[in-house]
Amino acid sequence: MAVPFRRTSKTAKRMRRTHFKLSVSGLVKCPNCGAMIKSHNVCPMCGYYNGKQVVSKKAEKEDK
Ligand SMILES: [Zn+2]
Repeated sequence: MAVPFRRTSKTAKRMRRTHFKLSVSGLVKCPNCGAMIKSHNVCPMCGYYNGKQVVSKKAEKEDK
């Protein structure tokens, strides 16, 4: 097995890791209101799912 010739310097290591980023997965645009929502979930902004209103916004407010 190949062995690294030289230890990677702190700077080289840190420079490489500047490209490491967390990616948000499963986030899609709501087809009704255009807000970024989690896929396969009822939209928290407009209460739509699969082209139908399944949760009314007023009912949500009353719960709170
Ligand atoms: Zn929506």
